[in-house]
Amino acid sequence: MQGEQLYRQKMLRLDADEGVRKTTDLSKNFRKISPYVAGEQPKFADQIKLNTNENPYPPSDKVTEFLENFNRDELKLYPDTNGGELTQAIADYYGVDASRVFVGVGSDDVLAMCFMAFFNSGREVLFPDITYSFYPVWANLFNVKYRTPALDENFKIVKEDYFCENGGIVFPNPNAPTGVEMPLADVEEIVSRNSGSVVIVDEAYVDFGAHSALELTNKYKNLVVVQTFSKSRSLAGLRVGFAVADNALIKQLRAVKDSYNSYTINRITAGAGAAAVKDDEYFKSTVERIVKTRENAKNTLWELGFTFPDSKSNFIFASHKSVSAKEIFEALREKHIFVRYFNLPRIDNYLRITVGTDREMKILFDFLAEYLKDKA
Ligand code: PMP
Repeated sequence: MQGEQLYRQKMLRLDADEGVRKTTDLSKNFRKISPYVAGEQPKFADQIKLNTNENPYPPSDKVTEFLENFNRDELKLYPDTNGGELTQAIADYYGVDASRVFVGVGSDDVLAMCFMAFFNSGREVLFPDITYSFYPVWANLFNVKYRTPALDENFKIVKEDYFCENGGIVFPNPNAPTGVEMPLADVEEIVSRNSGSVVIVDEAYVDFGAHSALELTNKYKNLVVVQTFSKSRSLAGLRVGFAVADNALIKQLRAVKDSYNSYTINRITAGAGAAAVKDDEYFKSTVERIVKTRENAKNTLWELGFTFPDSKSNFIFASHKSVSAKEIFEALREKHIFVRYFNLPRIDNYLRITVGTDREMKILFDFLAEYLKDKA
């Protein structure tokens, strides 16, 4: 009898413990998410960093000048809610009214706002199967249904796949991580055939020789063109991205931003970003240098036994004829040469190599020539 009582008491205690455990298990309140995984930011003194499509050259001297003369007293005050002088500088540069420009904390912020603002019909949003891996993450975060039409065997977007009912469209042009450009006429056809949904063209890499759809925003009310200062303007660390579109779309983006966080662009970012846009000469010369290095890199990669779709961006998406991408990726990593490898269907035998300086590319190619010598 006593044994049974003891047993009951023990079970009651266990139940009580379980109750405590249950109420303190906070994870049941958590959102189930699989976040975007950014490329690593290693910190070796001797590293060659070609893994996150940053610009190897410093930002314009005008940015330094702005930072050196910045009056800290300005930081007492809140900044303009819509990017102030930065928005105006972008509007002036592209010849549009400032009411047609939306700025954000990098183009990731602008794109996330676009998903929130424009993909609410309940119908499926479309983006390619191989593309910027943040799109499905935002779609899941904002409960947006989506479908991913496959790129063709040459990694080209098939425009006809987007001539159907949908809840919105988003794709990068040039695409990432392939670097492949869609001709502007095809972009326009996708936009014009989808007047009932918003089409977002993510032009993160457009400045490296591709054709921008920005001018088409004067003509189409359903087009949003998104660009960034992270690549062609060497300002990944500042975090500036922007969208150009018809006023009604920009008004909607601002309304969504102001329902979440009004002051996204701080005073330092606004001033430094504006200074960068105004230095067109430096911008053009930097882009030109990278394009030249990229074109030379294509020749060398070809000689080393790599194949790749033609890139119009600041990276090349390359596959070796006899050695696996994973093996090369790991061999490079050991030498502190960092490129990007995606272990994903269809692209797990490719390396995405950011175009660095000529010196950085030479170190990469010298190593590859030696490593691949006996393996071909
Ligand atoms: N779009 C594409 C296609 C990208 O590759 C990137 C860079 N990761 C971005 C947008 C975002 O860049 P950022 O937020 O630095 O402007």
